[in-house]
Amino acid sequence: SVAIVWFRRDLRLRDNPALQAAIEAGHTVLPVYIHAPEEEGAWAPGAASNAWLHRSLQQLDADLRRTGSSLVLRRGDSMAQLQALIAQSGAEAVYWNRKYEPATQPRDAAIKRGLREQGLHVESHNGYLLFEPWELATLQGGPYKVFTPFWRNALSHWRLPALSAAPSVLVSPKVDSLALNDLGLQPQLGWDAGFWAHWQPGESGAQEALEVFIDGALNGYREQRDLPDRVGTSRLSPHLHFGEIAPWHIAHALESQRSAGRDADIDGFLRQLGWREFSWHLLHHFPQTSDANLNPGFDGFAWAPVQPGLLEAWQHGRTGIPIIDAGMRELWATGTMHNRVRMLVGSFLCKHLRMHWREGARWFWDTLVDADLANNSMGWQWVAGTGADAAPYFRVFNPVTQAQKFDPQARYITRWVPELAALPLKSRFAPWLSPTLLAQAAPLYPTQPLVDLAEGRAAALDAYHRRR
Ligand code: FAD
Repeated sequence: SVAIVWFRRDLRLRDNPALQAAIEAGHTVLPVYIHAPEEEGAWAPGAASNAWLHRSLQQLDADLRRTGSSLVLRRGDSMAQLQALIAQSGAEAVYWNRKYEPATQPRDAAIKRGLREQGLHVESHNGYLLFEPWELATLQGGPYKVFTPFWRNALSHWRLPALSAAPSVLVSPKVDSLALNDLGLQPQLGWDAGFWAHWQPGESGAQEALEVFIDGALNGYREQRDLPDRVGTSRLSPHLHFGEIAPWHIAHALESQRSAGRDADIDGFLRQLGWREFSWHLLHHFPQTSDANLNPGFDGFAWAPVQPGLLEAWQHGRTGIPIIDAGMRELWATGTMHNRVRMLVGSFLCKHLRMHWREGARWFWDTLVDADLANNSMGWQWVAGTGADAAPYFRVFNPVTQAQKFDPQARYITRWVPELAALPLKSRFAPWLSPTLLAQAAPLYPTQPLVDLAEGRAAALDAYHRRR
């Protein structure tokens, strides 16, 4: 009998519990992807995500073709498309891996109920997280709002699912499919053209990124992960977001590398995977936090009205503060930004410019290839000081001293703001302090920062102390 395997945020063949369960039950598998951005509520995927998705689906289809099958593409209402596929293929069962966004959880529950009422066999699995978002609870039985005890609890329940191989043969019934281009995922004007020198979407790209990381940046990860001028991290986040690799596959691979000299780096890295788990735990328990402050104490905070000119200068890397501009330009050119720099550009927007964190979250949503509702919402609320276990609002990063500390040779700054390369090293962090040199070296670079850093900081603290 035929089973539909509904691919969603699990674009891989190995370690795929839904696919594995359908095969083990003896079904003939019909692999399907339904494009239904309207069902994602206010957070339909942005342009960079769509560009990645296009390539990831292409890869999944190519991987399926090697087994003898292929990916069936549809678009429109998910339930209606599933019904049409059931009618065309005679499927008696539907399998999927769970997706945890607040907008699609009730949809999935309704689809499960509806299909079961029709007599179909329906199964959903966890293909995305090490722990279901509702699995870990405080001693009082509630959700965690602080990371360390959450992670301590996770480690005390540590167990990883066994690995499973990709099927080598998969024969599927024939049903018609849209062409990938019909989904309209490719950005117009080719803005993403430069991304693909940095990324290889799809399951084999994810595997390769993991291997490169284990052989390279894992060694010294704890010290290097904060330094934006080098590849000091795994660069696995978009692969994890699209489910091209299972988090437990990564954890198994790291556990197998354990030795006295590597434990600190391995534990440090697993802790970052822990933040990803924590973010889904938070979004599940506080589903409003993609839009609203987790800490209601900020609901009366006097954010500055959005000034489009200031926002655009931030978005396009023209603030006059080199580390901020470098980060925003890296994002535009590659679809990613180093974590330390995400914190700095975020702090600058929410504190020095006092703009609402949602403005930043929205821009990241559209431009990051790893845009992820849980990680992005938590990241922005952390930066803004409105979230769980957040940086307190009154702790305002100074982007100049931060750059001197984490990019001491200004290599990262110079890579992304190359017009500053002709300045002496010490002027590259705050070029407005050397106006004559700046005018000679980079006449088009802003002569003054968008906001005086001391004044911006003082205004932010003033607003913080006056919040209602
Ligand atoms: P590594 O250091 O190699 O970490 C391994 C994995 O752990 C990452 O791939 C990611 O899945 C997870 N991880 C690492 N750091 C964090 C963190 N702080 N929070 C949650 N998970 C983490 N990450 C996203 O995946 N999507 C987002 O949309 C996103 N938005 C962010 C917005 C802001 C304002 C901030 C401060 C951070 C945001 N992050 C987001 C978290 C972090 O910046 C990225 O996960 C990280 O830079 C990805 O690089 P990497 O895979 O090389 O990380």
